[in-house]
Amino acid sequence: MVKGNLAIDKSMAKTVVDGKIIIPLPKVLVENRYYPMFFVYSPTHCDDCGSKLHVNSHYTRFILSSHGTIARDVTYWTCFSCKKHFHDQIIGVPGSANYSYEFYEKQMSVRYDGRCSLNNSRKIGET
Ligand SMILES: [Zn+2]
Repeated sequence: MVKGNLAIDKSMAKTVVDGKIIIPLPKVLVENRYYPMFFVYSPTHCDDCGSKLHVNSHYTRFILSSHGTIARDVTYWTCFSCKKHFHDQIIGVPGSANYSYEFYEKQMSVRYDGRCSLNNSRKIGET
């Protein structure tokens, strides 16, 4: 048993606000701008005809990440002129996937190591 206080790594300190732990998220570069991961990015104009988009519906997406499951409210958009549909982008999440890039990369690197796999976790510990 170590006696006395252990040195604390203060660089890993987390802040508690209103009973919640606040974790700073990494920034992701998108088209020459940095956005915080899981930032919701809304289209404003139609890709095809350039008309202003209108709100079609709201939806909550659940994203698997190494920080846990993230719930984000997103919006679906409609172009009244050409009836095309658009949806919000979540920074750090590929398209309409339900996992983040960093989660996918972590999964792949663990899998290649041959010890664990998310889709086949029963095999953990087998040699
Ligand atoms: Zn349009």
